[in-house]
Parts: sequence; structure tokens; C-alpha cells
Amino acid sequence: LYEVYSKNTKTSCEFMEKAKTVMPEGVTANIKSFAPHPIVMEKGHGAYLTDLDGNKYVDYLLSYGALMLGHGHPEIIEAITAQLHSDGTALFGTPHRLEVEMAQKVQEHYPSMELVRYTNSGTEATLLALRLAYSYTGKYKIAKFEGHYHGGYDQVLLSVNPPVNEAGPVNEPNAIIESKGVDPYHQEHTIILPFNNIEACADILTKYKDEVAAVVLEPIQGGFIPAEQSFMDGLRKLTEELGILLIFDEVKTGFRLGLGGAQSVYNIKPDLTALGKVVGGGFPVGIIGGKKEILMVSAPTSASDVFDNSQSKQSAAKDVLFHSGTYNGHPTILTAGLKTIEVLELEIDQVMETTDELKKGIEALFTAKGIAMKAVGKGTIFNVVLTEKEEILNYRDLQQSDFVTRKIIDFHLLNHGIYTKPLNRYSLSTVHGKKEIDLTLEAYENVLSKL
Ligand code: PMP
Repeated sequence: LYEVYSKNTKTSCEFMEKAKTVMPEGVTANIKSFAPHPIVMEKGHGAYLTDLDGNKYVDYLLSYGALMLGHGHPEIIEAITAQLHSDGTALFGTPHRLEVEMAQKVQEHYPSMELVRYTNSGTEATLLALRLAYSYTGKYKIAKFEGHYHGGYDQVLLSVNPPVNEAGPVNEPNAIIESKGVDPYHQEHTIILPFNNIEACADILTKYKDEVAAVVLEPIQGGFIPAEQSFMDGLRKLTEELGILLIFDEVKTGFRLGLGGAQSVYNIKPDLTALGKVVGGGFPVGIIGGKKEILMVSAPTSASDVFDNSQSKQSAAKDVLFHSGTYNGHPTILTAGLKTIEVLELEIDQVMETTDELKKGIEALFTAKGIAMKAVGKGTIFNVVLTEKEEILNYRDLQQSDFVTRKIIDFHLLNHGIYTKPLNRYSLSTVHGKKEIDLTLEAYENVLSKL
């Protein structure tokens, strides 16, 4: 299996040796690395990727879900080309039209985002959400869920993928640091909650209610393990009662679980919402929004005082949340994002249907082969989980699945031209259609016959 892989991707292997001389392990993000070597892609067109050896793959990674119109969608290319020609690179460093247009478009689908701010990534969006929560509540701990990812900074880089033998009691998980260099201080200040377990959340949050500013969660863990409706209802009620803010990290679910994201599907109004990925149309972006009174903490007071002098400005700074960024609200990115949303308004239902078709097709092949498997997911992302469990409700359930066989299947699929990073989820786009589904199911049939 791995011999065929290495033979097919020989040029990638050679390239990675060169890349290792300039970057640690040859990658710009740890997530891009996997053994024996990652495949180095050269081009993306529609639903397909082409690697350095000229192999073509149906792409289900889609840049970790970001590319909901596939690669190089002609309408996005046309829109950003026109924008660049007409406005210039348009990084004015001033307010501009597209910042308002995008905000209004987002509010149409996410009415809970009464005011918004732009950032350059999902990571920055959740980071700003936390700072808003601290400053609004005057409390400085946060609570996050075991197995949930919100970005790569200290407060949330705990218990994302912890070793189960160190993770502690199911009902009161330990805070496990995920990276070298994370300040151990955060083990005391980030409280870990068990997903889909409202009783345990109630016990923990009640204990820490005077210290916890906000609960942040992925409403669909990892983009594929859904919260139960009763859990969501319970969490909203609980946080309200305890005076804790509720932050929905919809970086993955935004415009993917439906146009209105998880908050629309679950009919829950979070206090703050972070968006990213899809809203950038393939470019780096984050949007953070929520209740007006919370966002107003970041309103600069100096803006209202023409003849302000530096002395009073400094005293005001203490009362305002600092938020800045050279590239925030980049016009070219907002153009790509607006075009993406416009296309999705017409085509998202079709992506849902294609995803369902693929899930059912794969499940049927596993059933025929007699291997216990679940296509776990909701909306336009799912994961292939090899499990005999009735339900996958959280991180611990997932850890009990068969990752070894899954990985073998994944490498076979790579050899058959189906791309996702081994063990990763499947994300779909508007340009994945019957042809791609047929190719994928054919590859699966072939692979399963080899097991
Ligand atoms: N939150 C979630 C739920 C994510 O999936 C991600 C990215 N995988 C992030 C935050 C961070 O976003 P970014 O990579 O744009 O910083």
C-alpha cells in the first residue's frame, strides 16, 4: 500500500526533502504534515487537485472546508479581477463600502450579529470574542469543550486532541496543554467541559460561574459531530442563568450547515459568533459579531472627540477594547466572500443533497462489506467513523473508533485519486456533482474489496 503511494507521489517526496531545508519538517502549518510524506499539490480546478506528479484527485479536504465553491470558481475570479481593476489593491487603511455590504449580508443570515468586526482568520475572530467576553463581564476564565478547536493561541490550545489516558474523568475532563510553549497558567484559567452532557456542564459551570466569562463551542464538533438539540437548549438556558456569555464558533459551520449556520438550525441566539473559512471565498478572513452592547466595548471613544488631546486619549484607552489589524476588512477578500455567499444562496441545497448522496453511498458499501461504519455529520461536512457505537456524541466516543483501518482505507483512496488528508473529514462544494460521487464510490468499492 505505502509502496504504491510512494511510487505515485515520488516527486512530492523529493520536493519535501527540499522543503525541509527551509521549513521545519517542510511545512508552513503542522497540520499539512503526515507520514510518510504529504502530497504536494500544484493546481486546483473545480472539485479537483493535481499534484506534482500529475495525479488528479477529487478534493474533499477543500482547504479544511474553506472552499465551498471549489477551486478557482469563475464567478469569484471575475469578481475579484473586476474589483482589483476598478479600485486598485484597495487596501486604503480607511473605512470603505464593502465592509458595510458584507456586514449587512452577514446580518441577513445571522441576525444575532448585530454589530461585526473583521479579522484575518478564524483564530483571530475567536480570540477577539474572548477579549470581548472578558471585558464585558469583567471575568477572566473561559470554558471550552474537550475535542473542540478554536485556533492556535494559549487560551484555547487545551484538550483539543488529548490522550484519553490523561484526559481525566468523562464528567470533569482535565485541561491538557496541546502544544509546547503554552503558558501553564491557562490550565487554571480554561475550564474543560464534556460535549453533549448538560448535567456535567451544569455542575462545572455552577462551580465556576463567578470566574467564567464565556463558554465557547463548536456547535458541530470538528464540523461533523452535532450537538443534540436538548444539549444546545440546555446550554443556552444554563449560561443565561449563570451570567456567562455563549460564543458560537461557526468558523466551520458558517454558511455550511445552512446559510444561517448552526444558530439557525438549532434556533439558538448566541451572544457572540465567530465566522471564517467560507466567508473569505478562499482567502484569509474572520468575522466576529454579536450583541450590540458587547461589541460596543470596542468602539473607540476618540472618534467622537475632534479636539481630543493625547492625555485624555490615553485615559480613554483603558475603557475601550483594543482591536486593530492592517488587513482587517480587506476589499478583495470581502469581494470574494460576498460572491461566495451570493452563489450559495442559490446552490447550498444542492450541496446538501450531494453530501447526503455520498454519505448514503459510502455507508451502503461498508454495510455490504460487513464493516461497522457511520458517516457522521450534518450539512455539507461528514466523517467516516469506523465504529460499532450507536451514536458518536463527543471526543471520547470518537477516540474509540478504528483509526488504523480508516488510515489504511485513506491511503488506498489516495492511490485511487480521492483526496482528503488521512483521517480527515469530507467537505463538499457546489462543484461536487454526480460525476465526482460516482468516482468516489467506485474508488471506495475497489478499496473495500481489498480489505
Ligand atoms: N475555529 C474552528 C471551528 C476551526 O475549524 C478553525 C480552523 N480549522 C478555526 C477556528 C481557526 O481558523 P483559522 O484557521 O482561519 O485561523
